[in-house]
Amino acid sequence: MTQKTALVISAHSADFVWRCGGAIALHQQKGYDVTVVCLSYGERGESAKLWKQEGMTLDKVKIARRKEAENAARALDVHDIQFFDLGDYPLELDREAKYRLVDLIRKVQPGFMLSHSHYDPYNTDHMYATRIALEARMIAQAWGHEPGQKVLGAPQLYLFEPHQTEQMGWKPDVFLDITPVWDRKRAAIECMEGQHHLWDYYTNVAENRGNHFRRNSGGQAGGRDCRYAEGFQSVFPRTVDEL
Ligand SMILES: [Zn+2]
Repeated sequence: MTQKTALVISAHSADFVWRCGGAIALHQQKGYDVTVVCLSYGERGESAKLWKQEGMTLDKVKIARRKEAENAARALDVHDIQFFDLGDYPLELDREAKYRLVDLIRKVQPGFMLSHSHYDPYNTDHMYATRIALEARMIAQAWGHEPGQKVLGAPQLYLFEPHQTEQMGWKPDVFLDITPVWDRKRAAIECMEGQHHLWDYYTNVAENRGNHFRRNSGGQAGGRDCRYAEGFQSVFPRTVDEL
């Protein structure tokens, strides 16, 4: 039996924690190897608290952000976390950087992938990361790209929940019960010391999604109990033999 795997493509080094930390910890618990790639540290755009400190430099911010992300990854039992350090605000990938991501996708051969919403007018790095994820997935499937390497199948791309959900045109079609690993997600959230204002916010989001899980699994007529959940929007159709 081949090892089950998943790949998270995170624009900045903290995004994976808020948006799919539960999915990561849960799948690790189920025996998957979950790899996280942080395309940047979010050093310029998502590190305001660090920049308010005296004598701060770009390198110091990156080191602090990397440490936080590594601690969070440990809390979630992430199999492998990689930092591409491509810069943020704006995040940009040249051809070489795209091929680096394609190499990683082919190496991991993910059973499913996770990234940001298609649209995010507040944070164009996020929607850019998803565009890049789709582009890299496409290249990884191409038989003419680095012939001889194992080409990629068709992993689902799940878009995780953005901040200010309603503004992003994001609509979940999957709710994942993360109750069994909630403590791990909360511990990872608490590694994000620079973003203390988001800790309770994302606890509330998980509780609300837990409510939606209960309702959509049957509600009062036999729905499953669920205290915490994460919502995802899938990009590709499923292929099934039964509905
Ligand atoms: Zn971000």
